[in-house]
Amino acid sequence: MPYAYDTNNIFARILRGEIPCNKVHETPHSLAFRDINPQAPAHVLVIPKGAYVCFDHFAAEATEAEIVDFTRAVGQVCAMLGVTPGADGAGYRLLANSGGDAHQEVPHLHIHIFAGRPLGPMLA
Ligand code: C5P
Repeated sequence: MPYAYDTNNIFARILRGEIPCNKVHETPHSLAFRDINPQAPAHVLVIPKGAYVCFDHFAAEATEAEIVDFTRAVGQVCAMLGVTPGADGAGYRLLANSGGDAHQEVPHLHIHIFAGRPLGPMLA
């Protein structure tokens, strides 16, 4: 099934520089910025620069360079935030809402990184 990408979604507009964001990291194929409505002391979104709606779209159509870059960018942000799991109990949660049942609000793939407090058990 072809994926329909809305080129006017808000993250596409951020990538075009039409809307500001609080950038924390940028790589050739990825951008990371703080969520405007943080749900944890550290709440960062990492997005690919390519036009991908959701994770399965990205996994199916992104180049290997994009996939490697994006995966590394997520890990680099976690390291930059200082939340790499360790003896101090630090850690983080990654989340990628995809589609209606998951309440995906912005139809451009994004991974949420939540950290900075105990996050509780995962909700189904
Ligand atoms: O995963 P989902 O699509 O539901 O989440 C979208 C996220 O994008 C929200 O957490 C929202 O606060 C964030 N957002 C943002 N900057 C914008 C618009 C939305 O950080 N300009």
